[in-house]
Amino acid sequence: MDFELNKLVRPNIRALEPYSCARDEFKGMEAHVFLDANENPYNNPVNRYPDPLQEKLKGRLAPLKQVRPSQIFLGNGSDEAIDLVYRIFCTPGRDNVVAIAPTYGMYKVCADINDVEYRAVPLSPDWQLDAQALLRVADAQTKVIWICSPNNPTGNEFPREVIHEVLTCFGGIVVIDEAYSDFSSQVPFRTMLDRYPNLIVLNTFSKAWASAAIRLGMAFASEDIIALFNKVKYPYNVNLLTQEKACALIDDLATVDSWLAQIRRERDHVLPALSELPIVREVFPSDANFVLVRVTDANRIYRYLVEKGIVVRNRHRVQLCNDCLRITIGTRQENNELLGALRFYK
Ligand SMILES: *Cc1c(COP(=O)(O)O)cnc(C)c1O
Repeated sequence: MDFELNKLVRPNIRALEPYSCARDEFKGMEAHVFLDANENPYNNPVNRYPDPLQEKLKGRLAPLKQVRPSQIFLGNGSDEAIDLVYRIFCTPGRDNVVAIAPTYGMYKVCADINDVEYRAVPLSPDWQLDAQALLRVADAQTKVIWICSPNNPTGNEFPREVIHEVLTCFGGIVVIDEAYSDFSSQVPFRTMLDRYPNLIVLNTFSKAWASAAIRLGMAFASEDIIALFNKVKYPYNVNLLTQEKACALIDDLATVDSWLAQIRRERDHVLPALSELPIVREVFPSDANFVLVRVTDANRIYRYLVEKGIVVRNRHRVQLCNDCLRITIGTRQENNELLGALRFYK
């Protein structure tokens, strides 16, 4: 499939003259007196605007994620990257996007906010993805296809070949949200950026990195696509405290790895235990840090757990997810409390 990035970009974004901030203009030279940004000179110690392009953090992330720094966008959670995809590629009231159902809710919310038509293609009852079905609903106004793998809320990841088929056959942008790829053992798609000029991969600090509160999301794509993100984003979209905290986490990878190992071990403990409960109809396989479970009566069991102080996610009203609960893998103690409560449910 021929890929012409410029033809996909919204005309007003193509023509946009981006805001030039003080720290953009001054770059690369040595200086010790900063009187260019109307900051307060007294260091409290956050008086200076942060690096708008987060170069130090990107330098640390690049080898870890096996990409080049110029292939990284950092934002206020993945949610910022999701919104920017619409604002860069989709003309409101005219263009559309294609996604699977069920999947992560933000793709649809951002489509609605940006007045972009959202075409959802249902997965099969065992949560499989049909590449040709996605491609069939795409037309000349389809700018983006969203694929979340491992998928939220179903928990499974899709076979690589199926995703490769979409990437190869679709002439627009394919976003693969790999928020949960740290919990899977397959090769992540961000290592394939040089092969697919239409690929955007999303990662986040909110799950495996245990840092949902710092709001740090990542998008990996070609240098040309990242340049568009940089053009449209807020100038100082990632604050200094977040940049510093992320660097500190990267300094302590051993801790992140031990969390991951523990969560996978707990997943291996929780899934079979859930399957044995009489109230559980089906435990769907999980490549993530949560599991989707079909139960006898999701609304009632949800309320019962809340009364015990245990909160899970009730997905009963989500398309194809009737009587399903989505349960995050917690600590051994938290998981045992959940399992204990469910064993006593009548
Ligand atoms: C949790 C989650 C994210 C993370 O969003 P942030 O804004 O980075 O916290 C992204 N995508 C999916 C599918 C998720 O489930």
